[in-house]
Amino acid sequence: MQANWCSRMTVGILGGGQLGRMLALAGYPLGIRTELLDPSAEACAGQVAPLLSVPYDDFEALARFAEGKACVTYEFENVPLPTTQWLAERVPVRPTPRALELFQDRLYEKQFLNSIGVPTPVYASIDPVTPEAALEIVGLPCVVKTRRFGYDGKGQGVAHTREAFLSLVQQFQPHALIAEAFVPFDREVSIVGTRGLNGELAFYPLVENHHREGILRVSIVNPPATAADEALWQTAIGYLTRLLETLTYVGTVALEMFQVGEQLLANEVAPRVHNSGHWTIEGAETSQFENHLRAIVGLPLGSTAPRGYSAMVNLIGTVPSVEAVLRVPNAHLHLYGKSPRPGRKLGHITVRADTRAERDALLEQVLALVP
Ligand code: AMP
Repeated sequence: MQANWCSRMTVGILGGGQLGRMLALAGYPLGIRTELLDPSAEACAGQVAPLLSVPYDDFEALARFAEGKACVTYEFENVPLPTTQWLAERVPVRPTPRALELFQDRLYEKQFLNSIGVPTPVYASIDPVTPEAALEIVGLPCVVKTRRFGYDGKGQGVAHTREAFLSLVQQFQPHALIAEAFVPFDREVSIVGTRGLNGELAFYPLVENHHREGILRVSIVNPPATAADEALWQTAIGYLTRLLETLTYVGTVALEMFQVGEQLLANEVAPRVHNSGHWTIEGAETSQFENHLRAIVGLPLGSTAPRGYSAMVNLIGTVPSVEAVLRVPNAHLHLYGKSPRPGRKLGHITVRADTRAERDALLEQVLALVP
């Protein structure tokens, strides 16, 4: 490796939340420095890497931020598109602003997914003047969602009646909305993968996700054990491959899906590292964070092979006794340095074991500690 690697290699990250923080931490062993930009001076990634605290439309500051960077990436999809477009004229932005544009809008996202043959729930754009036209298409029950800025279950509601549908539409207006058929799924799963600068692809195993109130609570990772598991994983890999290759995407991406029988329906794409990939820090040979950095600076990707069986538990709103968590064997605690607030992601715990039964027992111990 070149002698001046460390001094040369600085990556800019738009957004300074926990994802930026874990990206910054993943850079240290590789000698990749990171600098973050976030409008909030309190952004928790600022505790581990330099943080430029300016509005996203402060173009003078953005010019300084772009200077000397190998590339710029983003850690959440609600970064304003013009910010990334402006930066992309000065420094490589990976993944591209195009990916951000598609995946920060639920309508563009679904249109794109369908255009590359990835199935989604039946959906329709809601016309503010004639909202019932969308209801005709999706039927009842359905889910009404804001097209933009929705996350962790915010900006959406389920309607079982025509009246409830119209009331949700009224509640969310003037935001642009879509309606989706409510999917009676067997389970929710996601796949995280990375595409390198040279087109190399790497995929982590399928993850089973459990949400409550629209927020991810627990992710469970079992390497494929049966032919049916393998087939499902290959379907997910096929979907993500099409997405990555169509967009000549560079970096890590997550695809959240509903499993209905043997079918996978795409729900949401995150053009970034993802909460359902946090287990990879201890549970895979190379973490999603490291692979994202490797991809965007043009390094070879690392192995995504799982190290046995893992599970991740999110710490939402409160943190359990640190001593109690650390007494659980193989429990890896990650705290994000944020002040507690209801519904806020404050940290996570990953357990890892060589057998499924052992992992399940550890997960049970951790869940008993988490409210
Ligand atoms: P989202 O913000 O789109 O990821 O939605 C948050 C959660 O709401 C999902 O993880 C599902 O549990 C649930 N959800 C969203 N869309 C649907 C749907 N079309 N059918 C059933 N459940 C849904």
